[in-house]
Amino acid sequence: MIKYDYFCPTSIEEACNLLSKYGVDSKIIAGGTDLMVQIRDEDKRILNLKHVIDISNIREMSFIREEGDYVIIGALTTHAEINKSQIIKNAAPFLSSAAETVGSPQIRNRGTIGGNICNASPAADTLPPLIALDTEVKIKSIIGERIVPLNSIYVKANQNNLLPYEILTEFRFKKLPSGSKTTFIKLGRRKALAISRISIALTARCDEDGRVNDIRIYPGCIFGVPERVAAAENVLKGNFPTEKLINEAGFKVSEEMINKTGIRWSTEYKKPAVEALIRRGLKEVLGVE
Ligand SMILES: Cc1cc2nc3c(=O)[nH]c(=O)nc-3n(C[C@H](O)[C@H](O)[C@H](O)COP(=O)(O)OP(=O)(O)OC[C@H]3O[C@@H](n4cnc5c(N)ncnc54)[C@H](O)[C@@H]3O)c2cc1C
Repeated sequence: MIKYDYFCPTSIEEACNLLSKYGVDSKIIAGGTDLMVQIRDEDKRILNLKHVIDISNIREMSFIREEGDYVIIGALTTHAEINKSQIIKNAAPFLSSAAETVGSPQIRNRGTIGGNICNASPAADTLPPLIALDTEVKIKSIIGERIVPLNSIYVKANQNNLLPYEILTEFRFKKLPSGSKTTFIKLGRRKALAISRISIALTARCDEDGRVNDIRIYPGCIFGVPERVAAAENVLKGNFPTEKLINEAGFKVSEEMINKTGIRWSTEYKKPAVEALIRRGLKEVLGVE
């Protein structure tokens, strides 16, 4: 049993002060659905943990609001709240769908979007839509705040580059243009309570004569450092969507996967699986039979 001091700040300022004092051997806890597993798991045990800073009572970090063309989500917002939010359903429906697939009702009521992202797992279900939305994050500390693209906080799988005295406070993305279609598809070992093996988040919009003018493709669980697959997007951008181009875009995604991760034992399964998911998702958002 690990012993640690436990703090329960009620404001971001108080949390930043505690983190500046105890940063290096402390951990933030939000919903605790990842962290408590890690604290108890002997293989993943967090060494040198002396202080736990429970941010779950910081009410100013739990909100979803619109600011002009943007949507802002507080890092303590739970998956259940994101799934239910009408603002999210209107501005980015695939984020609502992704939140709905996380764990079980208990996990969705406790687990937060901030914890999902700061845990830095490539299998995090809110990550694909947030990357497709070109989301930015606000990070605070006693020194001040910085706003950076979400993908820039990833170092590699399961590791972010937040400093020990920093806290991620909010997510911000531009609402999708009207007429955009979105989809989130998750492939797990079973239909419920399963971590994603592969997931995809896609959004697309066609102009009046039917050419694709906005397309964003992100396959989850594949890259340690998340990035949209521009090579696949470029196959469709400016063109009329056809089955041939959709197949080509799927191939570009699997090609990028192999370029970045090399051939692994799982490639034999993942290559056709990711291509099939991209094909299925693109047909859905582009209305191709
Ligand atoms: C049974 C079970 C099923 C699950 N199923 C899924 C699933 O289907 N899909 C999925 O994506 N995940 C799943 N998870 C993982 C987990 O529930 C999610 O990742 C959840 O969103 C984590 O949020 P949390 O608030 O509980 O994070 P916590 O456990 O509190 O924190 C996670 C990490 O993030 C850090 N952290 C948290 N908030 C901040 C912040 N604001 N600033 C800086 N650092 C912070 C913590 O220090 C910790 O390292 C599952 C977990 C369990 C136990």
